[in-house]
Amino acid sequence: MSKHVLTNGRIYTATGKFHEENAAFNRCMVVAGDKITFVGDTDDALVRKAIEDGASVTDLDNRVVVPGIIEAHTHLLLFGTWLMKLDISHCKSLEEIQSSVLEYAKAHPDLPRLLCRGWYQHTTNGRAFATDLDGIDPRPIYIESEDLHSTWCNTAAAKELPIHRLGKEDSPTTVARDVDGNPTGLFAEVAQFHVVWHHQIVSMSQEDKFRALDTVFELYVNSGYTGAIDLAMDEIMWDTLVKYREQKGIPIHVGSHWLVTNGCSRDELLNRVDQVIEMYETWHPSRNPEFCVLGIKLILDGVVDGCTAAVSNPFPGHTSLVPPVWDTEELTLVIQRATDAGMQVAIHAVGDVVITQAIDAIEQAGAGGKRHRMEHIEFPAAEDIRRMGELGIIASIQPGHCDPFAVRTYAQMVGPQLWERAFPYKKFLDGQAVLAIGTDAPSASHLPMPTVYTATTRRSARVPTMTAQTHADQALTLSQAMYAFTAGAAYARHAETWTGSLAAGMRADFVIIDTEWDAEVLLEAKIAQTWSKGKQIFKT
Ligand SMILES: [Zn+2]
Repeated sequence: MSKHVLTNGRIYTATGKFHEENAAFNRCMVVAGDKITFVGDTDDALVRKAIEDGASVTDLDNRVVVPGIIEAHTHLLLFGTWLMKLDISHCKSLEEIQSSVLEYAKAHPDLPRLLCRGWYQHTTNGRAFATDLDGIDPRPIYIESEDLHSTWCNTAAAKELPIHRLGKEDSPTTVARDVDGNPTGLFAEVAQFHVVWHHQIVSMSQEDKFRALDTVFELYVNSGYTGAIDLAMDEIMWDTLVKYREQKGIPIHVGSHWLVTNGCSRDELLNRVDQVIEMYETWHPSRNPEFCVLGIKLILDGVVDGCTAAVSNPFPGHTSLVPPVWDTEELTLVIQRATDAGMQVAIHAVGDVVITQAIDAIEQAGAGGKRHRMEHIEFPAAEDIRRMGELGIIASIQPGHCDPFAVRTYAQMVGPQLWERAFPYKKFLDGQAVLAIGTDAPSASHLPMPTVYTATTRRSARVPTMTAQTHADQALTLSQAMYAFTAGAAYARHAETWTGSLAAGMRADFVIIDTEWDAEVLLEAKIAQTWSKGKQIFKT
């Protein structure tokens, strides 16, 4: 069995509490095989014995060691395909977008379709017509919004999309249509997830899908991650991961929440849940916690940028409120069904209206204390934060989404009252909720240190020269953020007994970081090494 002694470091060991204010550090750690066997002082007898037994010795040179980071919310294959798309986020007008796509089309005559990303709706004044793209190239053109919740298509793309997958979900908010009922180019929310992404993934070759996963896993390993939870799984993506794992192996542990959409009959809805239950039985976490199905994902509303979040004020220029995607009764039914099968439920809820709805449904389903989780939770009422703690609902947050650059228009969009309570990370902890940090890549950067920087300073990692802070009083301490990104995320997938903290008996999943333990300098922090199961899987 291979033995390693890592000495002279700052080994972060704030374990046992989810609300630890101060980090505790040890100097030395011993790893034997795939486990940590000791964390403590360098002059301990156990350390001397390990060295006598021939352990390799690494001088950490005072570098920081934290548990392997666990990405609590990502989209693996979608992130990989996103990386392959043309980035137009620098474009400031329709003309700039058109010329970027044209240049890309000319440079890539072999591509069957032109996939782009990074469209900010305001650069075209919210305008997204197929006709504005039709003159560029005859191939299907897809332009995904920066917030990922919508895609603007040309006519060729609109024609090839399997819109029939929508049924009752085909509405003016999901598929924009003209007076004759023909799609005009914009596909949003469930049409984005269920039609556009589905079609893009189905149209990709296995080779391209594998290439996308190669890139994603490499990026994750190089960034200090030893685990990830995918938050919008479906059969095609899972099948790709299964094949990839068989042929190439996956270097980090992966758990998945399967997207269940509504808009169908009650029977069909329950049937959709039952299909996931079947997958859960086959890929049960108890059988192989490293590659498993954890539960379902439900999307109750959209996002602020697309004016689709279910907030209690109408968006500027809108006269009516955004209705919740689900009704509470069907939501309760689905949560109950999933909970009875032993699965976890992850609920996308951005606006205050659906945050309350989700908590009501969990309560009515008698599903408190089952580690159900809420995603994003951007504008919760104080009372709802208290109820989350009471019901043991995990607050799954993505600090990149509260980057001052990303939210610069939010106060105006949601109004001062809701803005006042936006992204209340500290209040979640005060309310006794377990915090789990993720990035929601590709909707925000997958990089952990910039994510922790924004969580702890509430400043922009995207535009570091910006001085604005997003409600500075809601900043987490560095220890709280690191805890949420490791032990908290492990808790969110029932894995805290074997990973997410550094202690004897835990799996040797850890990352060595070249940094001071100081939130202010995290943008300069360098991931030096990543270890998974006692093996070094990345080194700078
Ligand atoms: Zn997501």
